[in-house]
Amino acid sequence: MSPRAKEAGNHAATRSVRAAIGTDTSHRAVVPPLHLSANFVFDAPGSCGRYDYTRSGNPTRDHLQEAVADAEGGSSCVITASGMAAVTVITQLLRPGDVLLAPHDCYGGCHRLFTAESRRIGFDVHFVDQSTDAAVELARACRPRIIWLETPSNPLLRIVDLARWVDVAREVGALTVADNTFLSPANQRPLEWGIDLVVHSTTKFINGHSDVVGGAVVSRDAALGEELAWWTNCIGVSGSPFDAYLTLRGLRTLHARTAIHEQNALAIVDVLGGHVAVAAVHHPSLLGHPGHDIATRQQTGWGSLVSFDLHGGRPAVDAFLSTLQYFTLAESLGGVESLVAHPATMTHASMDDEARRIAGIGEGLLRLSVGIEHAGDLVDDVHAALDVVEERLCVPC
Ligand SMILES: *Cc1c(COP(=O)(O)O)cnc(C)c1O
Repeated sequence: MSPRAKEAGNHAATRSVRAAIGTDTSHRAVVPPLHLSANFVFDAPGSCGRYDYTRSGNPTRDHLQEAVADAEGGSSCVITASGMAAVTVITQLLRPGDVLLAPHDCYGGCHRLFTAESRRIGFDVHFVDQSTDAAVELARACRPRIIWLETPSNPLLRIVDLARWVDVAREVGALTVADNTFLSPANQRPLEWGIDLVVHSTTKFINGHSDVVGGAVVSRDAALGEELAWWTNCIGVSGSPFDAYLTLRGLRTLHARTAIHEQNALAIVDVLGGHVAVAAVHHPSLLGHPGHDIATRQQTGWGSLVSFDLHGGRPAVDAFLSTLQYFTLAESLGGVESLVAHPATMTHASMDDEARRIAGIGEGLLRLSVGIEHAGDLVDDVHAALDVVEERLCVPC
């Protein structure tokens, strides 16, 4: 923990709220000012202060980088223009002949990038079900340079055992990366399980207000962090100061938001689980969820993504969606506002039918990103929409 973080309190929530508060020396502003300037004045040719050019360094972005590194318990962080930019920075570490082991159900944008870059650069990528022993055997046989993990996964919230994969990585000499977008550091801190790099789409929970697209890579090791900062500047994907300002503003309330997100999500899980129109509910808090035990151990909260299968397929989905009032039909997640997505035609539309079937993404599957509206309103809304499905479609029950 840095000395400044210590002054700001020992609880992560306190440190996030207080990140860089009271550090302004020009006017003693409580909230540090937003530095939009692209460039900084030199004292003399070849001699400048801490900053020279915003792509390489910017005080506002540095505040966010320090705060996100601290939230994840890492030594440093780079803030990028999107989550995919953060993933791209990490792929710079791969060379021809390397192997990348990634989850078969990883974020679609990562699947596309890994596939395209493996062809262009000449590394091998294997997409595997990381909950199986076969995946571990493959890792032992092909000795990957990077083991990519994402837990919980999208949209079925499958859980992967981080500690198990850290052991495998140490055995084969691989670097481990965890995409922590779905939970945020308020609910899961992969570096504490021995993971080397944490990647985020800060677009989601860290900013939390659906008004910024951004990304982050947090490093455990300082030298690796410097290498990634070098690449971020080199390929030119560092995040804008304005986005960094908004994202730090969002991060201040991460812990407070997370608590309400979770209460609301658990209330929704309850409604879904008790309704005849629902065929299955997917949420790690449920005893019957296959990842429940691992999630209990490795997460500090359940998260507020909930997916479920409706009886009656697409017609049921249409009836449900046309009745909902407080869940906006949209992709993305992690904002204060509740959203609903239909993975088969939205987030996972680019998969072919067979791949979707194998992944367990049917026509009746819906994913909710449960927001921080009043729990009673959200519960009533989902209940009413489920009742309509039941009435109109006489679902089998
Ligand atoms: C959204 C998302 C990304 C990509 O982030 P962008 O900010 O959209 O570029 C990567 N991983 C996960 C799990 C995501 O949800």
